[in-house]
Amino acid sequence: WMRMSDMRVTDNRALSQASEQACRHNIPLVVLFIVSPQDYKAHDRSARKIDFALRNLSSVKTRLEELHIPLKAVTIARRKNVPSNMLSLMASLGATQLFANIEYEVDELRRDIELCQLAKKQQTKIRLFHNKSIVEPGIITSKGGKPYAVYSPYQKQWISVVNAAIARYLEEAKHPEANQPSIRSCPKLGELFNSALPVSVAGFELEDDDATAMKELWPEGEDKAKEVLRRFMKTKSRTSQLEANGPLSHGAETDHKHNRMSEYHLERDRADKDTTSRLSPYLSLGVISPRAVLRALLLESGSQKVDNSSNTGAGRFVQEMAWRDFYTDVLASFPRISMGRPFIEKFSAVVWENHQAPNKANLDQSVRDQDSEAVRRWKAGMTGVPIVDAAMRCLNKMGWVHNRVRMIVAMYLTKHLMIDWRIGERYFMEKLIDGDLSSNNGGWQWSASTGVDPCPYFRIFNPHTQSSKESLTLRNPKGDFIRHWVPELRRVYGPDLHNPSISIAKRLEYPIPIIEHKAGRERALRRFKTPGEE
Ligand code: FAD
Repeated sequence: WMRMSDMRVTDNRALSQASEQACRHNIPLVVLFIVSPQDYKAHDRSARKIDFALRNLSSVKTRLEELHIPLKAVTIARRKNVPSNMLSLMASLGATQLFANIEYEVDELRRDIELCQLAKKQQTKIRLFHNKSIVEPGIITSKGGKPYAVYSPYQKQWISVVNAAIARYLEEAKHPEANQPSIRSCPKLGELFNSALPVSVAGFELEDDDATAMKELWPEGEDKAKEVLRRFMKTKSRTSQLEANGPLSHGAETDHKHNRMSEYHLERDRADKDTTSRLSPYLSLGVISPRAVLRALLLESGSQKVDNSSNTGAGRFVQEMAWRDFYTDVLASFPRISMGRPFIEKFSAVVWENHQAPNKANLDQSVRDQDSEAVRRWKAGMTGVPIVDAAMRCLNKMGWVHNRVRMIVAMYLTKHLMIDWRIGERYFMEKLIDGDLSSNNGGWQWSASTGVDPCPYFRIFNPHTQSSKESLTLRNPKGDFIRHWVPELRRVYGPDLHNPSISIAKRLEYPIPIIEHKAGRERALRRFKTPGEE
């Protein structure tokens, strides 16, 4: 059972194990994919992500066919029927064993538990594998055996666990063919090769323009994902990546000494340059394995162990990959993360401007029914704060936006506008092509100060300073990122670009800010200091 988080043929544990079994017993192997629109709706999946998944599914089908493995996709309208329908489908194929990789969201875990219970009655064997992370959830714990809710001790152990397995990673890096399923010799299920794949899912269709843009920005397939990785490791960053073009457009010049990866620690915070890997859409669907990324990094750096230094590109990049594993571990260890609850329970009582609903049922109601004026303006990139507006317009257009500005817009929504972080979390999921519950929730709860290892509530970014700051990590020094995405300000230079006066804003028909930094900050400090009080 291929899922929407492991859409690849290479280095896919469930698929490798299934193919090994099939070969050993000389029985056929079929890959099944379930389309579950109710799940997509319940989990705020973006139409962009669904479209990207279907494009990748088609590419997986082609690769599987080369290995003589058929892929069949089935739509199941009601999500509660997924376990029983899956077993009926298996029965109709005469299948007695099911292999799948684990999805750690609570609904998916419950679904798999039910599947296992039903399968037991039918004598069907279910085998589930960890596949999403480099270090799987549950391996890294405190001395008392508890999961970490703080990143730095987690990261320290993460590095040790990875280094303990380094010989294997290096060996695998040298022999990539070892990660391919080998199935050619098994019996074939010919008729299944003709089964057609869905090209869209009702309720998740993309507008034609958006579909074309997404295809150009984020081409599908394992080979493309590998190209994106290669580009990160081999080519220089573009000094000005401001077109709405994806990681593979306009081949950048090759420069092995100074490539994106080698300068990542210095340049990664810049929103006006194309400096990061842009692998997130591929990692979130599982089109590329995080272990493959690690192996490539080891090969490229020629190192015999994982570098953990913040002062090198490779070291800093590895730390970001560890954040991905950390948030996945948190999701698996604390199910309330999947339930719309703050990790720090006392912040359930924070009084938000949009509603006062600490529980998810009320939240759903308020989100669906009414976007306040402030939320509407934030979503549209019309807040009157240039860096926030540029970031939101970039997100709306590209389905992806740079990490630093994700943090800025999230903090602006939750602290300056005092809007519940779950509204932002949901909007991101609806727009992002890389939407992933663990990282998105982690990022939102970090910014809102309600999560694991969060930004302290009193450290509130000044968005104007974040935008213009001239320090070692230049975010947006000349303002090109703003000028590109906010054409109203295209002719504005200097400090005015980052914080236009009311008269400039009026002249250029750019919005006046909803709230001043100082007033927003003071209100947030008050509300977080004594949750439950105005
Ligand atoms: P790079 O800088 O090249 O990093 C490489 C990889 O490391 C990324 O592809 C990603 O898989 C991982 N990574 C990097 N930073 C983080 C991080 N802070 N947390 C977890 N993993 C990280 N990432 C998602 O994949 N999906 C999301 O839905 C998502 N939502 C976010 C929401 C907010 C509010 C914030 C602040 C961050 C969010 N992130 C999310 C994390 C991060 O912004 C993106 O992973 C990153 O910007 C992707 O670009 P990249 O691939 O070029 O990253």
